[in-house]
Amino acid sequence: MTMEYQTEFLERIERTLASVSYRFTRPEGFNFTAGQYMLVDLGAELVHPLSLSDCPEETGFIEFTKRMTGSPYCRRLESLTKGETIIVKGPAGKFYVEESDETLVLISGGIGITPIRSILKSLEKKGAAPCRVILIYGNMNREDIAFRAELENLKLPDYRLVHVLSDTTGMDTAYQGFINADILAKEVPEGSSAHYMISGPPVMVEAIKKALATINVAEERIRTDVFIGYA
Ligand SMILES: Cc1cc2nc3c(=O)[nH]c(=O)nc-3n(C[C@H](O)[C@H](O)[C@H](O)COP(=O)(O)OP(=O)(O)OC[C@H]3O[C@@H](n4cnc5c(N)ncnc54)[C@H](O)[C@@H]3O)c2cc1C
Repeated sequence: MTMEYQTEFLERIERTLASVSYRFTRPEGFNFTAGQYMLVDLGAELVHPLSLSDCPEETGFIEFTKRMTGSPYCRRLESLTKGETIIVKGPAGKFYVEESDETLVLISGGIGITPIRSILKSLEKKGAAPCRVILIYGNMNREDIAFRAELENLKLPDYRLVHVLSDTTGMDTAYQGFINADILAKEVPEGSSAHYMISGPPVMVEAIKKALATINVAEERIRTDVFIGYA
């Protein structure tokens, strides 16, 4: 049964020029698993699925992070005032980590980072990542990287962040271009024995699945979160 909660708007946090987090009170009795999403109902038929970008261990609020597109939905988010009530339904989705000691490769395109940020922060807060964790994070340029400082400084025992930027960047440590089979093969030497979680726009998720197929990763090792609504 899908649960429905009322929640009050707390604050807005700008993550990049094009992405903003919105925090709400954590409803009484609400629980979720890092990586899940909710239906966020702003009234007037403005409803979208949004991943929780906070993690279960961060108490006191829940957080959604939206890519700003100028849509009526975004305009409504921007108009929220402190204390205003909205309705959220869920949690839903199976984009969460299964326990395993094999390498976990998280692959995000742009705003697809939201459930992955939740997963990584949850692992850090629990002090428990029994495996190597690699985040491969694709963005346009340096300024477009949401949660950058936090993701670069995560305290996990065996963790590596690989930036891939599609515009000229001045960021020496980043690959330039799009995430592809060559980058995956180089950054994940254990290749077909790792688990993969991909989150982002439909086109990006499909491209990565094809790239993984070319380096012999079996489909059952891949979990995806497809952000329908983005080209
Ligand atoms: C599981 C899941 C988690 C998501 N998490 C996030 C997140 O954390 N942050 C984030 O920014 N976005 C997330 N999205 C995408 C988000 O729900 C919106 O679809 C997207 O942000 C576009 O909305 P918009 O208000 O910018 O533009 P809109 O103008 O509202 O939508 C753009 C176009 O996409 C179509 N569309 C929008 N939503 C859907 C839908 N659900 N199904 C089919 N067509 C649709 C619209 O008809 C329109 O043509 C997620 C999507 C899914 C499915």
